[in-house]
Amino acid sequence: MTNERENLHQEWKSLLPLFQKRLRGKMLIALDFDGTLSPANNPQFDEAIQTALAVRGSEFLREQGEIVEVEGLKREIRETYLRGESVTIFFQEKLRIPRSFIEGAYNSVEKWRFLKRDSELMPILAELVERGYQLALASNSPEEENLLALGQLGVNPEIFSFKVNMKDVKRSKPYPDMFEKILELSGLPVEECVFVGDSLTKDIQGAKGIGMDGVLVGEVSDEAVAWVPQIYDLPQLFVQKRFQVVFVEGESGVSYPHVKDTQAREIIGLGNGNELFLDLREAEKVATLLNSGVFPNGISLE
Ligand SMILES: [Mg+2]
Repeated sequence: MTNERENLHQEWKSLLPLFQKRLRGKMLIALDFDGTLSPANNPQFDEAIQTALAVRGSEFLREQGEIVEVEGLKREIRETYLRGESVTIFFQEKLRIPRSFIEGAYNSVEKWRFLKRDSELMPILAELVERGYQLALASNSPEEENLLALGQLGVNPEIFSFKVNMKDVKRSKPYPDMFEKILELSGLPVEECVFVGDSLTKDIQGAKGIGMDGVLVGEVSDEAVAWVPQIYDLPQLFVQKRFQVVFVEGESGVSYPHVKDTQAREIIGLGNGNELFLDLREAEKVATLLNSGVFPNGISLE
């Protein structure tokens, strides 16, 4: 680890208890795909995009009667990119190439082919599900592309309760459409959902637009309720197990209500997210807790 990365991790570790507290009570974790579950920087992918842009761009310019060599255009794209400037703006404003041409170039590159198997990713997602969280995927990229990419990364798409893509909504993130769709499909109130993404504008500010908390990946931000240095750190933020309410019949024939435990100070049973399996020997403790008012969100019984 470089010093910079090490410092980031140190800073994050010191903030972790605060972040964990802020994320208490969440039921659903919605995740962005590109740059969040898939790596943000891939030199081969960048090279493929730049080549596609240069080819499409020179085709367009040739149609306009301008002679532009692909190699020359590729060099200009690279320089723009290295200066940290927007290649799209360079195309649109400097070369007057329409957006449809640029999008066509992006879409012609099969991004998923550049991904490698990520043996750490599936276990962390499975861990979150094991703890009782519902996962969702919300990406501006087409669903077919997400599925191919997940396959390449070694992630079973079934791990997500649902997916939201451009086919489901009119406008991409940061518009509210995708975030509202997440609420609709989850059936949860906004305060029980959190959005995890690598883009401050598209993911974090987008989610904030409808009052949803955001976790930023790879960067420090005060606009997010929490941030993680890497996606692999996510399980450390969501440590609480989730409980739902069930009744069980005690040996004495008495029904003991189980507890919907979102803010419990004490864990008195183990749950899988749908059911809570409570040791009946703890029944007295449950009764005490029910009467003590330690659950600020109240207790629901089903
Ligand atoms: Mg992203």
